[in-house]
Amino acid sequence: MERVYNFSAGPSMLPESVLVKAQKELVQYGNSGMSVMEMSHRSSHFEEIIDATEKLLREVMKIPDNYKVLFLQGGASSQFSMIPMNLLTKSKKADYVVTGEFAKKAYKEALRYGTINKVASSEDAGFNYIPELDPAKFDKDADYFYITTNNTIYGTRFTELPDTGNVPLVADMSSNILAEAYDISKFGLIYAGAQKNMGPAGLTVVIIREDLISDTLEMTPTMFSYKTHADAGSMYNTPPTYSIYICKLVLEWLKDLGGISEMEKINIEKAQILYDYLDASAMFKGTTVQKDRSIMNIPFVCPSEELNAKFIKEAAANGFVNLKGHRSVGGMRASIYNAMPTEGLSKLVEFMKKFEIENR
Ligand SMILES: *Cc1c(COP(=O)(O)O)cnc(C)c1O
Repeated sequence: MERVYNFSAGPSMLPESVLVKAQKELVQYGNSGMSVMEMSHRSSHFEEIIDATEKLLREVMKIPDNYKVLFLQGGASSQFSMIPMNLLTKSKKADYVVTGEFAKKAYKEALRYGTINKVASSEDAGFNYIPELDPAKFDKDADYFYITTNNTIYGTRFTELPDTGNVPLVADMSSNILAEAYDISKFGLIYAGAQKNMGPAGLTVVIIREDLISDTLEMTPTMFSYKTHADAGSMYNTPPTYSIYICKLVLEWLKDLGGISEMEKINIEKAQILYDYLDASAMFKGTTVQKDRSIMNIPFVCPSEELNAKFIKEAAANGFVNLKGHRSVGGMRASIYNAMPTEGLSKLVEFMKKFEIENR
């Protein structure tokens, strides 16, 4: 069987060259005589791996020196509670923008820990747009301001960051980290589950400005304190060693390709191939407001449930898999993260054109 074009929302495609390299090194890594999976996290071999991963991440994302990079577990979802536990320490207030299912979960979790202000939400229209933000609604002494830069399920993204002044901007970047260039100094904290653009599941990366690492709410478990992990260089306990190693290979691949700004150009081109077709097609339609369209996750629908189902089935039979949309949106969703080649989009559109003609 050939490798398919995998449009999964996550875990998702990895660059084939990364998998081939991992395969070569699977049984014996370098001169260690063992697999990375078998290594002590405190061995010199693994120390080299985690140090190189952090160095590469700092390089490609241009992370300033006054930020710490933490390699954690627990998925992006653990951050929904870890963030308020660590950051709601002064006014105990925070501003949240609710632009999707994950933002809503984060907002709900934060409600348990302080006074949470919902600045804006797009739930009224099924999260198909990014709401205008009224700075008059921002709380000037909030401990932080929370956004989700890319909404994985609904296929929207912030094309402009809110100006939060001195209030630290916190971003869930799980589905567009390494895919779009950001000025890291505009954020207090960025986090991402690795399984969309960075590597396999199991690793969660947190990038946090050093001054935000301090006291936590009193009942915070040791494992949920950023300080625990920052002080221990992400080695308080066993980090997800193999996922970190694959992340290193992904970062090497990304750097060789020209880094994030080059990647972003390619991602915009890739997304445009599908959006252009959706805008022209009489059968397939995008579901999001045009100006807020994600370049990572593209939901779309046919005029009937029968056609959606037929399309998903026939697409899979032709090597375009995991196109079924999230249960809350229905229809289809093409997740086209960094590792999806441009050819995957042009071939998908070719297939959609054929399907449209055959089912007119
Ligand atoms: C996938 C995703 C999550 C959840 O990630 P887990 O690692 O499964 O907890 C949270 N936020 C966004 C934006 C995501 O895309």
